[in-house]
Amino acid sequence: MFRGRACYELRHRGAPAGYTNFLDKTLRAPTRGTRRASRPAFCAPAPLLYTHTHMASEHRASYLALYESGELSRRVRALERLLVKCSVCPLDCGNDRTRGELARCYSGALPIVSSYTAHFGEEPALTGTRGAGNIFFGNCNLRCVYCQNYQISQTHKEQIKNEVTHERLASMMLELQARGCHNINFVSPTHFAPQVARAILIAAERGLRLPVVYNTNAYDSVEVLKLLDRVVDIYLPDLKYADSGEGYAYSKVPNYTEHARAALKEMFRQTGDELVFDGQGLLRRGLVVRLLVLPNDVAGVRESLEWIRDELSPRVAVSLMAQYYATNKAATDDRYVLLSRRISETEWLRAVSLLEEMGIEEGWMQEYDTASHYYRPDFRDRETPFKDVRDFQVTSEQ
Ligand code: SF4
Repeated sequence: MFRGRACYELRHRGAPAGYTNFLDKTLRAPTRGTRRASRPAFCAPAPLLYTHTHMASEHRASYLALYESGELSRRVRALERLLVKCSVCPLDCGNDRTRGELARCYSGALPIVSSYTAHFGEEPALTGTRGAGNIFFGNCNLRCVYCQNYQISQTHKEQIKNEVTHERLASMMLELQARGCHNINFVSPTHFAPQVARAILIAAERGLRLPVVYNTNAYDSVEVLKLLDRVVDIYLPDLKYADSGEGYAYSKVPNYTEHARAALKEMFRQTGDELVFDGQGLLRRGLVVRLLVLPNDVAGVRESLEWIRDELSPRVAVSLMAQYYATNKAATDDRYVLLSRRISETEWLRAVSLLEEMGIEEGWMQEYDTASHYYRPDFRDRETPFKDVRDFQVTSEQ
């Protein structure tokens, strides 16, 4: 009940992300021409669907207990050992990152931070009124041909200049906390999981109290995730493909689906399907699975929803995303013609209808007509790579 009421209040405060029920049949048709976006970009389920969620007026970040017991230090050391013969992600490249060898993700011993900022485009329970505290890491263990963050994920010669110490990363987290952000949202953290844990340890000692979000492409090692149990409060994985062939063609990694599903099972083991909110309707703990709808059903949304329902739970929160647009190689290379356009409204509505058909009970979905315009970052502006959605104008439809 609470979450529905909170979303209504947030909308009226001008929060960036708008909500509608998964089962709402009144989705608007896309409009053309210049107009100010009057509604935010995400939609929320009906309050009645929230019976299994848990509200905690005071919920401590889970890493604090680990820090106090000394367990966090032990976890950090165990994670750092994986850097010696790198097995931090399923690419398992075996390079010694502690001696300056670059792994297949072109990353070494120190974290690379391309941008950190309050961000207002995440799901509403993460964005709240003061923004998610996003930390965007440079490089990535995937090479998605349509990556909207390609300026930072696939430019390793540039990104090496953005290496920072663990202490500096911890300071960024504390700065975001001081700015009033609701959480620390690590974006593309997989290849820096040990460095993230080390920075959390330092920041906890210096007063960090915000929940930690692990915003990942899901190509994660189960061993690493086990070591992150209760270091991370909120898992926010993309489940990108239901077929590893697509993962190889479009993200350049083998066995994507097998690894991502194993990772999600481990995340689910840690969090279950319960979402924990604080008294302001902000998410404090749980698992939210993102599904980005791709043109020509490249993502395999039906198969992924079936898998979530059958292998995890129909009550796992799903965030259905309409923001895809052709960028990076998908915009220019004929080999990727299937991804060379935005999704059509018909494709979007088909994906939306699957939520009901599959009995998925909880989550968010973006608004079709604004999402692909707002989520176009330009990381040349490191301070504010995203336009503020409240100032956002739709100027054209693709
Ligand atoms: S996983 Fe995400 S950040 Fe990495 S290349 Fe793919 S879209 Fe970009």
